[in-house]
Amino acid sequence: MTVREYLDTSITYLSGVGPKRAELLYSEAGISTFRDLLYYFPFKYIDRTKFYKVSELDPELPYIQVRGKIKGFSTEGHGSARRLVAEFHDETGSMKLVWFKGIKWITGSYTPGVEYIVFGKPGVFGGVINIIHPELEEAGKAAERINSALQAQYSTTEKLKNQFITSKTISKLIGTLLKQMKERIPETLPSWMLVQYGLTDLHDSIHKIHFPSAPAELEKARYRLKFEELFYIQLNLLRFKTNRTLKNKGFVFSTVGESFNNFYHNNLPFSLTGAQKRVMKEIRKDLGSGKQMNRLLQGDVGSGKTLVALMSMLIAIDNGYQACIMAPTEILASQHYDTIMKMLKGLGISVRLLTGSSKTRSRKATAEALMDSSLNILIGTHALLEDNVKFSNLGLVIIDEQHRFGVAQRARLWQKNIHPPHVLVMTATPIPRTLAMTLYGDLDVSVIDELPPGRVPVKTMHYRYSEINKVFGFMRSQIREGRQIFVVYPLIKESETMDYKDLEDGWDTISRSFPAPEYCISVVHGRMTPSDKESSMKLFKDGHAHILIATTVIEVGVDIPNATVMVIESAERFGLSQLHQLRGRVGRGASQSYCILMTSDKLSKEAMTRLDVMVRSNDGFEIAETDLQLRGPGDIEGTQQSGIPFDLKISNLARDGQIIEYVRNIAENILSADPLLENENNAVLRIEMKRLFSQQQSWSSIS
Ligand code: ADP
Ligand code: MG
Repeated sequence: MTVREYLDTSITYLSGVGPKRAELLYSEAGISTFRDLLYYFPFKYIDRTKFYKVSELDPELPYIQVRGKIKGFSTEGHGSARRLVAEFHDETGSMKLVWFKGIKWITGSYTPGVEYIVFGKPGVFGGVINIIHPELEEAGKAAERINSALQAQYSTTEKLKNQFITSKTISKLIGTLLKQMKERIPETLPSWMLVQYGLTDLHDSIHKIHFPSAPAELEKARYRLKFEELFYIQLNLLRFKTNRTLKNKGFVFSTVGESFNNFYHNNLPFSLTGAQKRVMKEIRKDLGSGKQMNRLLQGDVGSGKTLVALMSMLIAIDNGYQACIMAPTEILASQHYDTIMKMLKGLGISVRLLTGSSKTRSRKATAEALMDSSLNILIGTHALLEDNVKFSNLGLVIIDEQHRFGVAQRARLWQKNIHPPHVLVMTATPIPRTLAMTLYGDLDVSVIDELPPGRVPVKTMHYRYSEINKVFGFMRSQIREGRQIFVVYPLIKESETMDYKDLEDGWDTISRSFPAPEYCISVVHGRMTPSDKESSMKLFKDGHAHILIATTVIEVGVDIPNATVMVIESAERFGLSQLHQLRGRVGRGASQSYCILMTSDKLSKEAMTRLDVMVRSNDGFEIAETDLQLRGPGDIEGTQQSGIPFDLKISNLARDGQIIEYVRNIAENILSADPLLENENNAVLRIEMKRLFSQQQSWSSIS
């Protein structure tokens, strides 16, 4: 058996792990082989050279240790609150140790009068410091065991702890495994990389990450392991990109012709922003390069992405190709249709709209026009993905608000042509640069980082429901000035019924404060039929309704320049990116716009952070960065569908941005010199890539 095979041995073969524990380790911690166990890294370390005195303890402290003795045991409380309490003291004072479970076992295991080291998180109850479910170890024994100052802490779950698999148990298992391994853990990076980038080898790194003897040593081990993890992700992404470029030739859009020029010189109602110009240049370069474009266009709400999309489509048309644009909702698709029809007036370009509610006759006409090439641009929703939508010559696909679509859906659009069309995905969710490098690591990225001139930044305010009359007063004054107002309610799938109740109650309150006939209120929510939605929206769009009450269906893209106030109800229930998107619905005209965040009086700390950053900043990237820090990359919208494994073992996409940039660069250099990793020096890379990614679907080849 080679060492590599040895590492694939089932964890049941490790002493101390029976079938039952093995099953739990797998279901609770994903550990099934020796390798998995070695790669189950600590989430933190406790400095076990530091001891606190009982008198120094306060509930703000993290995990700590104290040395002292148990005076005696007693039980307190009844039923599920029944607990075992030990009075524990040192020379400075006394505290309580509390157990809700395993009472018999505890009293049988620990003896009053013996000196113990107690380890745990201090809390307070009834004015007395306590530690609930502490770890205890005889002081004498601990002295023998502690050979490293930093003691690794492993995350465990309730189920694991119930089977007595604690952090300490895991540490022991890892120790056993390392001790019984006869050979060194085989290196997973080429030796030239270790030398060139000053990395500790894998064997030592694994040892030190679990049993560090000094902080500096731990840091080196941690860096090496993060480096490796992030490096392989980047190498994989970039390899897909390289393969795709080698494999797929792109249509060459060599000319910028009549359609584009006519539009640019006669129809374009304003001049392009610098950022729009730069992005157009990037896109034109792609389209003419002979390579298939796969570009992500990031731009804050209102930055003018639609125009970029339109101009790109005109280039496709000028070169004899069709183009399509797919939006996530019917409202958005028909809005794109209206905008684009208006912009293209008199240019003789044919555009059609296809959505779920298109009538059979219209569908037929669309299908015919697509096939006989008389249709230039098709705009629509998911309906575009249906098999019976066939193009005669699709050259460019644009996907708006890309995070709403799964990778699989994108793939279907991609396959509308035998020869893959150029793809431009647009998103208004700003993604921090380093996260984008991983999420969209196989795409080229363009950013519109400038808003059209004359925009007045939206003022954001936070009010509690106790101040609702103030808010209503403000709304009335805006209506008096001829402005319109959005009022948005959260809609969370899991509690739909409750949310609709919120919306209904809200509607009641608002219509009492804004009575007809003086005020006109329009309502849009997901339970309405598309045509009802349409007419409600129209009422507001045309300026007849003063207030539009809606669930988040209006979140993306709706463009109504006269609407200057966005009231977000229960704002604490929205995520940051959603709040920012919603706010982007106003501030589209020249007058001052407002975003009012309504919340209940009591707010969690995290909710406060979210509201604060909203009030303070209009910068989508700053908000995205905060979101990333608060929630971690796995929860950011769109990441689940990205195909990137987010159970990263040691690195953190939010915090390890520098390493990501660094290793991406290294991976790029390696691939440009050796695209297929055939060089003998890179043999290890080839082996590791195969082991890590052979089962993974090639997501990146389809976006
Ligand atoms: P988004 O990036 O959110 O899709 P849109 O494309 O909807 O933004 O543009 C927002 C608004 O800004 C639209 O009304 C559009 O006509 C306008 N706009 C776009 N580009 C410019 C520009 N260069 N100068 C002035 N207004 C612009
Ligand atoms: Mg848009």
